[in-house]
Amino acid sequence: MQPFVEKLRLSHRCLARHRFEVLQVNMGRLCNLACVHCHVESSPARKETMDRKTVDAVLRFLAVSRVQTLDITGGAPELNENFDYLVESARSLDRHVIDRCNLTVIFEPGKEYLPEFFKRQRVELICSLPCYSEANVDKQRGKGTFELSIQALKLLNRLGYGLPGSGLVLNLVYNPVGPHLPPRQDELEKDYKRELSRNFGIEFNRLYCLANMPITRYETHLRLRGEYEGYVRLLAANFNPETLEQVMCRSLISVGWEGWIYDCDFNQMLGLPLRAADGRPLHISSLAEADVVGRPITVGNHCYACTAGSGSSCGGALVP
Ligand code: SF4
Ligand code: SF4
Repeated sequence: MQPFVEKLRLSHRCLARHRFEVLQVNMGRLCNLACVHCHVESSPARKETMDRKTVDAVLRFLAVSRVQTLDITGGAPELNENFDYLVESARSLDRHVIDRCNLTVIFEPGKEYLPEFFKRQRVELICSLPCYSEANVDKQRGKGTFELSIQALKLLNRLGYGLPGSGLVLNLVYNPVGPHLPPRQDELEKDYKRELSRNFGIEFNRLYCLANMPITRYETHLRLRGEYEGYVRLLAANFNPETLEQVMCRSLISVGWEGWIYDCDFNQMLGLPLRAADGRPLHISSLAEADVVGRPITVGNHCYACTAGSGSSCGGALVP
């Protein structure tokens, strides 16, 4: 397989951050689920969580920067004791807040208040639902996950989430159950809308199609099944240079639970920090926008997962 760096060179492209619009904060690895494809390797046993001091550093940065969107992820970020504080404080700074929610977390003990909290704070929800079929979801996320996810979506709909004119945005995320590329996002969105409406009366705004990233837990899963090489070759064979202008690292930076800065959540999990021009790793407590705009992005073969076919990002497909 041709290394991604070489592929970029031959395409006469280089990847650099040309704008900084989204601050994505990973609040830690703790999660109530332990999905097969999880690049964060999250589970209920993980202990890493962002502390108050680091959350305050995030808020100090937001307060003085022009970045308008805070995108909160994990793990299940809602399990972090500082989650509500981060959301409320960012909203009081008039920032748009996105929460990447696994849906089932709202049924965890003591978390029942979350749907009303999301509504009150006008949080945009991006929720994982890797299929509209129970068998496929439970295979990837654990038995009973589909049923809980459907209950959560119905509850969110009752509050107005995903309904036309409510201003309460509910987007869903699909990722393949097996080692293949996602199908066309627009086509699959129609299927999701039809099936979820017909079977459960559920409505939502947009469907985002993501490719699975063959690193960490998912890499191990694929290797154990002898599917790793084939999947990586499939991604590389479908490299689409048209996606390069849109990859999320061009406009986003990722903050880890300890406050270190990365080009994206994937580079974070691979331990590839974003460095200043003088080579020092960057930390949110002393970050300036000028430190990251125009800086080259650290790439590797895992970047084929973002650039195969229609591309893949936190906002779904990159090109039609
Ligand atoms: S819900 Fe998300 S963070 Fe939690 S294990 Fe699954 S993929 Fe990972
Ligand atoms: S993995 Fe994707 S988002 Fe991260 S640096 Fe590579 S292309 Fe950019």
